[in-house]
Amino acid sequence: MPLQKQQYQVHRLTGQFCDTSRELMYRRSIQESVRFEFSFAVSVAACVFGMFAIADYYLLGLTREFYLLLTMRIVIVSVCLLVAFVIRHWGGNDYGAWLHALPLWAFATGIILIVPLRPESLSTQITAVAVATMGFYLLIPNRLTVVTAASLYLNIGFLVAAVLFAGLTPIGVLLLTVLLGMSNVVGFFALLRLERLQRKQYAMLYEERDQNRQLHNEIAHRESLEEQLRIVAERDALTNLNNRGHFIKLAKDLLQHSQSHKAPFSLFMIDVDHFKHINDTWGHSHGDWVLTKIAKVCAESLRPTDVIGRFGGEEFVVALPDTSSGDAQLVAERLKKKVAELSLTEEMGKLRPSVTVGVAATDSEKADLESLIKRADEMLYVGKRGGRNQVVVCSDVVEAPASPVGNK
Ligand code: GH3
Ligand code: MG
Ligand code: MG
Repeated sequence: MPLQKQQYQVHRLTGQFCDTSRELMYRRSIQESVRFEFSFAVSVAACVFGMFAIADYYLLGLTREFYLLLTMRIVIVSVCLLVAFVIRHWGGNDYGAWLHALPLWAFATGIILIVPLRPESLSTQITAVAVATMGFYLLIPNRLTVVTAASLYLNIGFLVAAVLFAGLTPIGVLLLTVLLGMSNVVGFFALLRLERLQRKQYAMLYEERDQNRQLHNEIAHRESLEEQLRIVAERDALTNLNNRGHFIKLAKDLLQHSQSHKAPFSLFMIDVDHFKHINDTWGHSHGDWVLTKIAKVCAESLRPTDVIGRFGGEEFVVALPDTSSGDAQLVAERLKKKVAELSLTEEMGKLRPSVTVGVAATDSEKADLESLIKRADEMLYVGKRGGRNQVVVCSDVVEAPASPVGNK
């Protein structure tokens, strides 16, 4: 049997979960309603039991037996009301079965004690016992074992008292046993069925919750996979900047936004100077490390609205919305300065990395991204030819679309 099913298995006779921890969990879940129902049922029963004092008075008058019965009724009603109060306010399953059993045993004792004090009214008492037995089973929720034990005590005690004090004949004993036995059987199976049904309902609810939880975990797992996929598709693995494809997509949106707001737009092409020399001198792993440091410092030199990407190799590209060529030059100069100030490892000695930046700008509604990239690339090469470690800004603004950028 699967573990899940085993945990929710209900005992045939007690109507409780076979798994004690599951039973405890179930009891805790219904604790609040049980407290209310139990204390209500006990309070009502106590009042009814107390009101039978009127019948005692009419049957016995103000005799010694009447006063004894009255005292007994007052004691039992007080005990039951006190227990009902305690259970309502502080009770719960943590108090165990004994607190729930107490009023039942008190009622049973009271009903048994009526026999020696009012033996002549045995026939009405038999009805009361049958009704009390059914009441135990039907009105006391969720306590089949407690109820069965109390009911058997009531029935057997009543039979013994009836024989001893009311002179019940053997035939009478037989008939009474059959009658009370039937009350017990009907009550027991009615409550057993109820207990089993309630627990099955609870098990189904929990199964559904488990399945929901699994579904949520599955959804969260899928979302995290999707996020990872998105990162792989959009990010450059070494520098964690946008990769070329994703940069182009973002930059096109930014250009369109600037054009629709008639705002200027600028673009940088950044190339690390003599990077091959770094690789050749300290190896590729050091080269990778320097590249990530430069990528980080470039990204940190920009405004949150700017977008940077790795264009390829040791080249980066930046889109600057709402930025004129003059402002772009200032940003590029700051970026170049920060790269020059980068502190590298001791091993790499006095190596001062530098970058050359080509800047192109536009305020035309017709300019496209490819034209800007091409022009910034041209400026970059002007800078390289001019001795590197410099910013070169295109003097004229980019106006019209150009042919796509070729491979360099
Ligand atoms: P220049 O100043 O003219 O740009 O000289 P350069 O050496 O930077 O340019 P070149 O194009 O001759 O060399 C670029 C080098 O960058 C060659 C290539 O191996 C290296 N490179 C490209 N991508 C990576 C990378 O991801 N990691 C490392 N370590 N090196 C890379
Ligand atoms: Mg290059
Ligand atoms: Mg280079």
